[in-house]
Amino acid sequence: MRTPLLFLALATILTTSASFAQDKPLKARPDAFAPEEQTIESKAVAMASTVDEMSQWDRYPTYQTYLDMMKGFADEFPNLCHIDTIGTSVQGRLILCARIQHHDSYQNPHPEFFYSSTMHGDEVTGYVMMLRLIDTLLHGYGSNQQYTDLINAVDIYINPLSNPDGTYRGGNSTVRYAQRYNANYVDLNRNYPDPFGTAPLNSQQQENTAMIDYVSNHHFRLSANLHGGSEVMNYPWDSFTSAENPHPDSEWWQAVCKRFVDTSRTYNNSIFRDVNTAGYIAGGDWYVIPNGRQDYMNYYHNCREMTMEISSNKTVDSGQLPGYWQSLQHALVNYIAEIHNLPSSTEAVETPRMNASLRCFPNPTRDRLFLSEESASDIFIFNTMGTCVLHLPKGTRTIDLQTLPHGIYMVRCGSHAAKVVKQ
Ligand SMILES: [Zn+2]
Repeated sequence: MRTPLLFLALATILTTSASFAQDKPLKARPDAFAPEEQTIESKAVAMASTVDEMSQWDRYPTYQTYLDMMKGFADEFPNLCHIDTIGTSVQGRLILCARIQHHDSYQNPHPEFFYSSTMHGDEVTGYVMMLRLIDTLLHGYGSNQQYTDLINAVDIYINPLSNPDGTYRGGNSTVRYAQRYNANYVDLNRNYPDPFGTAPLNSQQQENTAMIDYVSNHHFRLSANLHGGSEVMNYPWDSFTSAENPHPDSEWWQAVCKRFVDTSRTYNNSIFRDVNTAGYIAGGDWYVIPNGRQDYMNYYHNCREMTMEISSNKTVDSGQLPGYWQSLQHALVNYIAEIHNLPSSTEAVETPRMNASLRCFPNPTRDRLFLSEESASDIFIFNTMGTCVLHLPKGTRTIDLQTLPHGIYMVRCGSHAAKVVKQ
């Protein structure tokens, strides 16, 4: 999909970026760069055509099996579990959420927690982890004290699959041909309102419109969205580097991330090591991305949301799924309980510095773009896919766009942004 020249440019950006205080280049953020061509034939992807075939959790469900499983949770545990329909996808598949709550909550509302996975359709490890988490919590109620206490005190919402068209691009019977994007070929994690107030370059997709309506009708206090392609806990902000604008609760986030990573490593010492040794990072220090969901939830809903990258491969061999569960199960449960431990500034996330637009000219431009003054921060340029195509250091005055294809780009510098047309 890319010209070799652009690949070269991206490689150069990766290895020369001044903003990475690392002694070696960070692994490319899957959320920042275009997906690699996948060798789908090499994947060992076993599918479950019935709910019974999911009993060992070493397969991926067909779309129908997924629907049957979700319905089955509500049928088996009518006093604990309801299934909400968040909305429908472009191709009409259902976006579902299991709502796990004790009936006391109707009189005396409990704090609301939200897990949401696989907005990138090919990042399917979290999809199965979330289904198994629903199953485990429900079956543990009344016998496992931790799960019982959690369900008695927290309303737990779990959306296993937020981009079903991407996951089932190859048809409802397989995830083998899953893709990152939705059916309109839009990256749903570049398609939310962001702290700049700038609209995404693509129109808002109906999967996200449904999600925005759903979260707007709740008051989620803590949440996470799950991805694959790396193993790292990614905490806010994604829109800024921590030097530009640290999240006011950075220390709290780091402590939460450390607990998650430490717990996982109790079961698998090699997990969360492919980006850095800590296993967690401020999103913008890994790579700035625009219009992502994490920042949308933090900024617009005062909800602490982070991005969990839980498997180095996006579509892992189905036989590896039980191993991931063993590594992650306790950390995923404990993260829900962090809702009892929110920072004191919960009701007042300090807003990032907003939003004066970046002054640059000429616009449209054929080759170069001039800033009205030297940039006070690194400059990031994103294409309409939300992919960062250029990264220039602080102090830049002139940006050369000659190597970029014609089209619309978003230029970001600190809290300033501008849309620019390359002719
Ligand atoms: Zn992703």
